[in-house]
Amino acid sequence: MESLTKILRIFLFSLLTASAVIMNSCHDMKHPADLIIYNANIYTCDSAFSVAQAVAIKDGLIISLGTTDYVLSRYGSDDQINAKGKYVYPGFIDAHSHFYGLANMQRYADLSGAGSFEEVISIIRQWHTDYPSEWILGFGWDQNKWPGKQFPSNSLLDKHFPGVPILLTRIDGHAVLASTEAINRSQLGVIPQGEAIYNNGKLTGVFLESTADKIKAAVPQISEMETESNLMKASELCYAAGLTSVTDAGLDAADIQRLRQLQDAKKLLLRINVMLNPTEENFEQYLSKGIITTPVLTIRSIKLYADGALGSRGACLRKPYTDDQRTKGMMVISENKMEEFCKKAFDAGFQVCTHAIGDSAVGFVLRQYAGFLKGKNDRRWRIEHAQVVDPQDIDLFGDFNIVPSIQATHATSDMGWAYERLGARIKYAYAYKQLLRQNGWLPNGTDFPIEAIDPLKTFYASVARKNNEGKPAMGFQSENALSRIEALKSMTIWAARASFDEKAKGSIEAGKFGDLVIMDQDLMKVSEDQLLKTTILYTVIGGKVVYDSAHQPRQ
Ligand SMILES: [Zn+2]
Repeated sequence: MESLTKILRIFLFSLLTASAVIMNSCHDMKHPADLIIYNANIYTCDSAFSVAQAVAIKDGLIISLGTTDYVLSRYGSDDQINAKGKYVYPGFIDAHSHFYGLANMQRYADLSGAGSFEEVISIIRQWHTDYPSEWILGFGWDQNKWPGKQFPSNSLLDKHFPGVPILLTRIDGHAVLASTEAINRSQLGVIPQGEAIYNNGKLTGVFLESTADKIKAAVPQISEMETESNLMKASELCYAAGLTSVTDAGLDAADIQRLRQLQDAKKLLLRINVMLNPTEENFEQYLSKGIITTPVLTIRSIKLYADGALGSRGACLRKPYTDDQRTKGMMVISENKMEEFCKKAFDAGFQVCTHAIGDSAVGFVLRQYAGFLKGKNDRRWRIEHAQVVDPQDIDLFGDFNIVPSIQATHATSDMGWAYERLGARIKYAYAYKQLLRQNGWLPNGTDFPIEAIDPLKTFYASVARKNNEGKPAMGFQSENALSRIEALKSMTIWAARASFDEKAKGSIEAGKFGDLVIMDQDLMKVSEDQLLKTTILYTVIGGKVVYDSAHQPRQ
């Protein structure tokens, strides 16, 4: 009897001990996470614009958000970042860029910063050392920035790089400087009048238009491997700038295929919203098969062009250019084609995104869209740039929920000469605040590589309406500045909304992708002149650190 009691007692004791151990370990045991960031000021960009201190990410998604105590008491991870009071924002989304174009640019030395031809020489020498290849290619020189503003000649190229084929394209893309070896390898034939610049009857190596194109045609095709490496380089530039998603505003099927291969192989982590060029191949391979939304790829829109650009007087205006009364610019799409493409997209449930810059082009696209959209709707058809909008047309954006897709740095890049082109119409140009009022939201982007990739420049141009030198002091047409909250949303949650991705990304909320940036300054509070001095410390995509500024210890 006694022994039975003893056995029972021992049994009960062990049961209690065991359950105590289980309870204890339950208390100690934290849910595993792949990455935890704590001691941070996290601007979540949720609907209440709330601020949190810590976030946990697992399997690519945000699983917890709250105070540092809350998150650290419930979640554990081998990978933790002590943000030490620094600032976290949703990963930036560029709503209009040319990612593939940026990759292709990696083939060219960037000459846009050269202040003299001697500087061009030293840039390409460094470039040729860093990236040795048969041809030396460069892009972006502008003799207007050099002393004397004279067109260069190829004699210095031939002297410094004897026998090397060199092709340097001017900033506008219409003129090139070619070395003698590059000319020798090209089939120039008879040079049309005005397409070459001579000095004392001798070719200088500067060619224009169709003759420039003939030299470009002599450059060997880029290899698959080089294309892949350029795409990877482009993605790293995006990560370093704090971008976790981009839109590619117009791609062909073959380019999309290459991107998908890199994404499928998990080499390319950048999330990409692809707009389809209106080609038969794209219609067959994509549009007819329906919308694609994977975590890394969105395909649900087509890209059209209604007109050209303001700088080259290609944008289509209702009245002649102020600085050239002979022209109003021109449309590059017919009414029939526009209707045909819009119908295809409408029937497939795709968005239409049309480049329109002049007031005539914008008015045309608004009315074309309205014919399909009828009234209020949620199809999110977009007008890319929407730079000059006739005040009589602007309400059409709101009436038909047409989305103006803006690039704030275009305003501050163009402001130096846009008045010459537009005269009094400048008041209705780059009117981002007015456009924002139409639907209560709008997406922001850069159009890189035409502008810099840097989302901070977009933020600064949006809120300050100043260029990188802080000019003009009062801001360019500052009545159209966005508030800081609006600017941040336009580059995150509203940019996501512009591709129907707002449920998956654009804010830091449980269930969304773990995409974020950590920065050293508070974009909401730091003084305006400090904004461009902000540093990106980390960029995170799906809980994976893709950029780490200092490779610093994280704890
Ligand atoms: Zn573009």
